[in-house]
Amino acid sequence: MALVKTEGIVLRAMDYRETSKIATIYTKDVGKIRVIAKGIRKQKGGYAGAALDAPTRDAIIFSHREGRELSILTQADILDPYLHLKNRYEAISTAWRIIELVDHSVHDGDPNRSLYQLLSQAFELLNGETKSTENVFYAFEIAFAEVLGFALQLERCIRCKKKLSFPSRGPTTILFSIARGGFADASCAQHEPAGVQASPGVVRSLQHLQRDGMSGARRIRLSPSVAREIDELLSLYLRYHIDELNRGRTKSRNRASEQRS
Ligand SMILES: [Zn+2]
Repeated sequence: MALVKTEGIVLRAMDYRETSKIATIYTKDVGKIRVIAKGIRKQKGGYAGAALDAPTRDAIIFSHREGRELSILTQADILDPYLHLKNRYEAISTAWRIIELVDHSVHDGDPNRSLYQLLSQAFELLNGETKSTENVFYAFEIAFAEVLGFALQLERCIRCKKKLSFPSRGPTTILFSIARGGFADASCAQHEPAGVQASPGVVRSLQHLQRDGMSGARRIRLSPSVAREIDELLSLYLRYHIDELNRGRTKSRNRASEQRS
């Protein structure tokens, strides 16, 4: 049994038996872990239940048990309770969307320092003054795809590599390829086997969200129709590539167990 000291962000927690809690924490050094905090609900002070109110950033110590799904949390001291975030409906619902996405996509273990930084930046921003928490979510999704290894290519046409431009008049067809994570411009769209139609407004807003990141995103306003299109397009894109990532993991796990037997 090895003691591990790190910091982490609590993603979820639930009561367990009379006095304990089970929590999912995304840590800086060891990725996602599941811990049991024995007796935490009857204690006061540093190691109190509030340390496990998601989302909260804590300094933690836990004992890792090889081959066991649950580690034992022995200490949790609050570094940032994100109280302002928790008091506003819009901010907390955006935080839940982020938590759902990360918890669903990332497996236990598998440390990723960039993802940890991205998560803590997202909650810090949502904890501050934010005009649009939705835009923070979209910029998070774009950055999340990048740290998982399937970054979007939004500046140039995915086929001819020319910088995307739009005629000022007349209709224009731009196709978003979910498989390739970018746009085919008007002259290349017909050669692209599959894609989702996108309007110039959507393309420009996505470029803006990618360039300025989450901290720029909270200051811009998107029209409801552009926001809706971006919401759909990004969730289709992420679902497709995360499923692919998970299929790859299952395959390599199966291969490893075949080799062992
Ligand atoms: Zn092109």
